[in-house]
Amino acid sequence: MKILISYYLQISFLSLIMINHFIEIYLCRRQIKHYKNNESQVPENFSSFISLEDHQKAIRYSSTKLLFLQFKLLFDACLLIYWFPLRGAQHLYSWFNFEGIHHEALFLICFSLIQYALGLPWSIFSTFVIEEKFGFNKTTPSLFLKDQSKGLLLGAVFLIPLLYLILYLYNTFSQSWWMISFAVMTGFQFFLLSIYPTWIAPLFNKFSPLESEELSQGINTLVEKAGFKAKEIFIMDASKRSSHGNAYFTGFGKNKRVVFFDTLLKQLSHKEILAILAHELGHMKLKHIPKSMIASIIFSFIGFWLMGQLANNPWFYQGHFFKSQTAGILIFLFSQAIPLYLFWISPIGSWISRKREFEADAYAAEQTDSQDLIIALLKLYQQNSSPVITDKWYSRFYHSHPPALDRIKHLDSLKTKTSEGLP
Ligand SMILES: [Zn+2]
Repeated sequence: MKILISYYLQISFLSLIMINHFIEIYLCRRQIKHYKNNESQVPENFSSFISLEDHQKAIRYSSTKLLFLQFKLLFDACLLIYWFPLRGAQHLYSWFNFEGIHHEALFLICFSLIQYALGLPWSIFSTFVIEEKFGFNKTTPSLFLKDQSKGLLLGAVFLIPLLYLILYLYNTFSQSWWMISFAVMTGFQFFLLSIYPTWIAPLFNKFSPLESEELSQGINTLVEKAGFKAKEIFIMDASKRSSHGNAYFTGFGKNKRVVFFDTLLKQLSHKEILAILAHELGHMKLKHIPKSMIASIIFSFIGFWLMGQLANNPWFYQGHFFKSQTAGILIFLFSQAIPLYLFWISPIGSWISRKREFEADAYAAEQTDSQDLIIALLKLYQQNSSPVITDKWYSRFYHSHPPALDRIKHLDSLKTKTSEGLP
C-alpha cells in the first residue's frame, strides 16, 4: 500500500513539474499575444501622455523579457526533472561521505551553490544583453562581480549557521524540533527584516536623507498625519545599476523607512513626489508590512508543522524520488518541492498585494491631489518602459500592482468623490 502511495506521488509530482511550467509558459505567450494585438496604437486613456513610439518600445522590451523568461522556464523544468525524477539530488546526497549533520549541511550548501552557478549566466544575459540593449543597464562588470560576492558572503554568514542550528535541533529534539525550529525561524525573519534597511541594504547602495527646502513643508504635513518622521525618508543611488525608477516602503518599528530611487526623483515635480510619498505612507498607515508578517508567520507555522508530520514517513521521501530519509533531504524537499504545490495559491498573494495598492492609492488621494499621483504613475510606466496594457490572466497570476488602467480609473473615481464632497 505504502509503495503504491509513493508511486502515485511520484507520478503526481512529475505531472506537477510539467503542468506548472506549461501554465507559466502559456501565460507568457498570452501576454506577448496581447501586446502584439495592441501595439499599433496607444490605448485611448493614455494617448495624450504616452507617444506611440514609447508604447511600442515598452512592448518590444517586455516581449523580449517574456521570451527570455520562457527559455528560463524550460531550463528550470529540465533542471527539476534532473534533480527529482532522474534522481540527481539523491546522487548528490550519496556522493558525500561525511559524519552526521556535516553531511546534511554539505549536501544543502553544495546544491545551493550549483543552483546559484546555473542561474548566473541567466542573470548576466538579462543585465548585460537585454537591459543593455534597451538602454537601462548601468551596471559595470566589476560592480556585478562585487554584488554577487557580497550576496554570496551574506548568504554564507546568515544561512549556514541557521542551517546548522536547525539540523542540530532535528537531531536533539525528536518530537518538538519543528516547533523550536519554527520559533528560531520566526526570530530570524524578524531579525533580518529589522536589520535590512539599516545594515544590509546599505551594503549595496548609498542612502541619503531626502532634503529639500521647498519640499520640507509638504513632507512635514504628510508625515505628521501618518505618524512618521521626516528623517525616515531616503534617496537611494539606484542609478549606479540601472535607469529604472521606483519607490518603496520597508522595515518596521524604529527601522522603517520610505526610499525613493534617485532615478525616479529626477523625473518628478514636487507635487508628484509628495503624491508618491503619500502612497508609501499609506502602506505604513494601513499596516501592510505587519499584516504580511503575520501571514508569513502563520504560513511558516503550517510549513514546520507539516515538516514535523512528514519527517518520518518514508512515502514522502520515496514519492519525491529519494531513497534516503534524513533531515537534509527533508529541508531540501520543503525548499525545492513544496513551492511547486504552492504555485497554485500564488495568485491569491498577488490579489492581496493589488488590493493593498488600491488601499494605499486611496490614502494618497485623501492626503494629496490624486491627479498628481496619476501623472507620477504614468511617468513611472514611461521611465521603466512598462506597457500600460496587460493580458488579464497574466496580470491576475503575477502582478503585485493593479493594471495601469484600473489604477488610474480608481484614482479618477476618488477624485470625483472628493470634488463632489466639496461645498
Ligand atoms: Zn504601493
